[in-house]
Amino acid sequence: MSGKCVFLGTGGSMGIPVIGCSCDVCHSDNPKNRRLRPSIVVEIEGKTLLVDPGPDVRQQALQFGVDAIDGVLITHAHNDHIAGIDELRVYYMWRKQPIPLLMSRESYYDIAQRFPYIFHKDERSQGLIANFDVQLIEGERGTARFLDLDIGYCSYEQAGMKVNGFRFGDFAYVSDIRVFPETIYEDLKGVANLVVSALRFSPSPLHFSVDEAIAFADRVGAKRAWLTHIAHELEHDSASAKLPDHVRIAYDGLEVPF
Ligand SMILES: [Zn+2]
Ligand SMILES: [Zn+2]
Repeated sequence: MSGKCVFLGTGGSMGIPVIGCSCDVCHSDNPKNRRLRPSIVVEIEGKTLLVDPGPDVRQQALQFGVDAIDGVLITHAHNDHIAGIDELRVYYMWRKQPIPLLMSRESYYDIAQRFPYIFHKDERSQGLIANFDVQLIEGERGTARFLDLDIGYCSYEQAGMKVNGFRFGDFAYVSDIRVFPETIYEDLKGVANLVVSALRFSPSPLHFSVDEAIAFADRVGAKRAWLTHIAHELEHDSASAKLPDHVRIAYDGLEVPF
């Protein structure tokens, strides 16, 4: 299974620049220090999958030319990952067919409370709302058959919320991770290209630090690791210079073949 990952956003929950912040990173001229909320597109076997329609999804789709999608995956229901779900209406308008959507039962319950109208099939809406064909992930770990693709998934927890990591062949996207079961190393065995979240160098209760993310990637055995979900404490160039060669800080627009 080969394909390509395009980073649509690599920032933390507030994005960079942070509103009202006077720090050097938020005022940097380096475009790699401008980060939208975390999201990727995976292009695989002729299909385009969007992972996490966050609050910046419209801007991201325009900026990076995501003119059509075949399906959507959701890691978890925190707002920085799903607040733009309503914007996916435009893809429904173009394709005139429900958009396949893969997520856990827990994510579904959470999102359906905040966007109840999205999941109602209502003739009166006349295409005014997105329309999804929801496929729920079964259990904590395994492989889902989605759009004729075998997509591996693992589960962990962030602040009491279930989060899923996804695997496409030897590429995996594992965001918002800090507390996880040991079985995740089996789930990610053989992953060569790993995207993993790392907020900053200092510890966080909800996210890996940079050092924790590197230790995780090395225990997985990934040949290359890309850090994402970056906070404004990390300046791209100076932080990158401190990292081992096989670990890179992702940036918006970066494309990674796998
Ligand atoms: Zn997040
Ligand atoms: Zn700042």
